[in-house]
Amino acid sequence: MNILVIGSGGREHALTWKIAQSPLADEIYIAPGNGGTQELATSVSLDVTDHDAVVTFCRAHDIGFVVVGPEAPLVDGLVDHLDQENIAAFGPKAYAAQLEGSKGFTKDLCAEFNIPTAAYGRFTDAASAKAFAQDKGAPIVVKADGLAAGKGVIIAETLDQANAAIDDIFGGQFGAAGAELVIEEFLVGEEASFFALCDGDNILPLATAQDHKRVGEGDTGPNTGGMGAYSPAPVMTPEMTRRTIDEIILPTVRGMKKRGHPFRGVFFAGLMITEKGPELIEYNVRFGDPECQVLMMRLKSDILPALIASAEGGLDLIKLDWRDRSALTVVMAANGYPESYEKNTLIGNLSEAGENEDCMIFHAGTKQEGGHIFATGGRVLNVTALGDSVTQAQTTAYAAVDKIDWPDGFCRRDIGWRAVEREKN
Ligand code: ATP
Repeated sequence: MNILVIGSGGREHALTWKIAQSPLADEIYIAPGNGGTQELATSVSLDVTDHDAVVTFCRAHDIGFVVVGPEAPLVDGLVDHLDQENIAAFGPKAYAAQLEGSKGFTKDLCAEFNIPTAAYGRFTDAASAKAFAQDKGAPIVVKADGLAAGKGVIIAETLDQANAAIDDIFGGQFGAAGAELVIEEFLVGEEASFFALCDGDNILPLATAQDHKRVGEGDTGPNTGGMGAYSPAPVMTPEMTRRTIDEIILPTVRGMKKRGHPFRGVFFAGLMITEKGPELIEYNVRFGDPECQVLMMRLKSDILPALIASAEGGLDLIKLDWRDRSALTVVMAANGYPESYEKNTLIGNLSEAGENEDCMIFHAGTKQEGGHIFATGGRVLNVTALGDSVTQAQTTAYAAVDKIDWPDGFCRRDIGWRAVEREKN
């Protein structure tokens, strides 16, 4: 079967790397791909917002399955369009993708189906939003309703900050994504992510992970797309995982079905493990980046039958085997990220750095030219390692990082710190 992967990040490199190991995969194409996917798949330049162009490409290259990596094409209805043309694709249709695309949509679903989450209100005008914030008191969380690349969430320590965030969002800071906002109670606990595939009826639990959103060590500084991750997340004990499935994931599956829009794709549940148990912070409807990289490192089985079953049904017949080891990924980013940074800087010594069999270097913002790798984006490399503990995976990952010759890049040196602390005890 020929496969088309859509996306250009470390997530798509990891997915493509795993799919390429499947005996079911023949030719793999990736739109647009990056400097690392080039060895596994043919890079194609395709405007994925032009759904007809994607269909034409699929027909011309006999594509049997499309794997959509990022959220924007899902929210934009690419899978609906492919489905109408009888082209199988991994990922939810636009209605179900609102679980990520509209925070208000998800909060209402939680309210309707009794899914534990922070108390909230939805607003389209500043006066009632401010009155709600005043009533609830600080700290309080103000969120633009739509997709804002992780930047549309403001944790307001004071009411003044909450009011300023409300004014900024309604003032157009996030464009159409801020036409509506959600205000919610501030949850206290440890965050973790849980991943499960769904075919509309059945779920197939994957694994847990924890990421590091802030740019600086000790989880300080501005938010980023993610500076590192590890799996499994120790806070997700078997009991917490069971409760997450029973209290959050399965009610969501039933809720979406009841609404006549069964969810097919991957649930990436952002959780707060509070004193009361797991509460849903948000849903993403695609694999996380960089969480996908650690998941793919740990997965022993072929992923392709599971992705296909998620799209076409039969997930209940799939069993996945996982390595009983930890995986950790360190993101290397261009100096200056998440603010402005230089592009087209040369990265050296990648092959030697990735020689260890427990280590994989997944590319994100890179291109290959004349046999050399150049950085083209903010987040550039994902140095990913397996270990018998998070501590060991961390040591292996940083040993590889230290071999990479890229004076224009940096990384956090403390990825995995929570788990490493736990492992000391
Ligand atoms: P991203 O796409 O970056 O994951 P997002 O913009 O979709 O983020 P959320 O995941 O809803 O937004 O929130 C981003 C972060 O803000 C969370 O990871 C969490 O750290 C914090 N956060 C969100 N809601 C709450 C809450 N109710 N209580 C405490 N912290 C919260």
